[in-house]
Amino acid sequence: MSLLMEGKRGLIMGLANDKSLAWGIAKKLREHGAELAFSYQGEALLKRVQPLAAELGSDFLFECDVSNMDALDAAFATLQQRWDSIDFVVHAIGFSDKTELRGKYVDTSLDNFLMTMNISAYSLVAVTKRAAPMMRNGGSILTLTYYGAEKVVPHYNVMGVAKAALETSVQYLANDLGPVNIRVNAISAGPIKTLAASGIGDFRYILKWNELNSPLRRNVTIDDVGGAGLYMLSDLSSGVTGEVHHVDAGYHVVGMKQEDAPDI
Ligand code: NAD
Repeated sequence: MSLLMEGKRGLIMGLANDKSLAWGIAKKLREHGAELAFSYQGEALLKRVQPLAAELGSDFLFECDVSNMDALDAAFATLQQRWDSIDFVVHAIGFSDKTELRGKYVDTSLDNFLMTMNISAYSLVAVTKRAAPMMRNGGSILTLTYYGAEKVVPHYNVMGVAKAALETSVQYLANDLGPVNIRVNAISAGPIKTLAASGIGDFRYILKWNELNSPLRRNVTIDDVGGAGLYMLSDLSSGVTGEVHHVDAGYHVVGMKQEDAPDI
């Protein structure tokens, strides 16, 4: 088997459990020889993340709440103490108050708007700022987004607006860092049942709708996302930056309900 990531090291941010999109990506990277470090949010997650990291040959884990700039500085200082350079970062982080991931967007509170933007969009900027100086030989930064940034998906609300900011950040960051050969891209994943997704109102309906109406007539898995992640983080995508790549069974190209989809 080819080892696309042999000799490459990177940080995975946003692993919560074995359903996480970050897990699908981390597994694929490890399969291809990458050396991985993990940051997790809060002590409570450590007992879930530690055995998963160990499964992928890593004992390099540290805590990092991305809404706290001091915590981000500390996390990157810890990373640098052990590794003098990195090749990639996976940013698989998003959060909003779940009481506002149902009902109407017009009811979004200022506090939750700012928190959602901070954790789900600004954190990519803050992470990139700290990761870039460690990417001495160039690098690849990958974030995760969703179709709710492009079109209205009922209940996705403020998270859709944050994902739009995230996708535009990908473009601006790609332009800033292109001259030092650091690429910044996003995968726009179709709906997948994870901890974060369970906070979205009527998520089961969204899953069913995508399954019935996407060209491939199925939902995607974290392994589908992992494969695309491997492409984005390896030299296979060396000419690609500022891109939002859809891994959604083709759902984003469809304009109306499929003829063979029953009412749900
Ligand atoms: P998940 O719950 O497994 O992962 C979300 C992660 O965000 C968790 O590890 C959580 O600890 C972390 N996080 C939240 N707030 C944080 C903070 N302040 N500091 C540090 N970490 C924080 O769910 P997931 O679905 O794998 O989500 C990963 C990314 O994928 C998110 O950006 C999400 O929006 C995106 N995404 C998910 C789907 C889906 O349907 N599941 C689809 C498209 C995009």
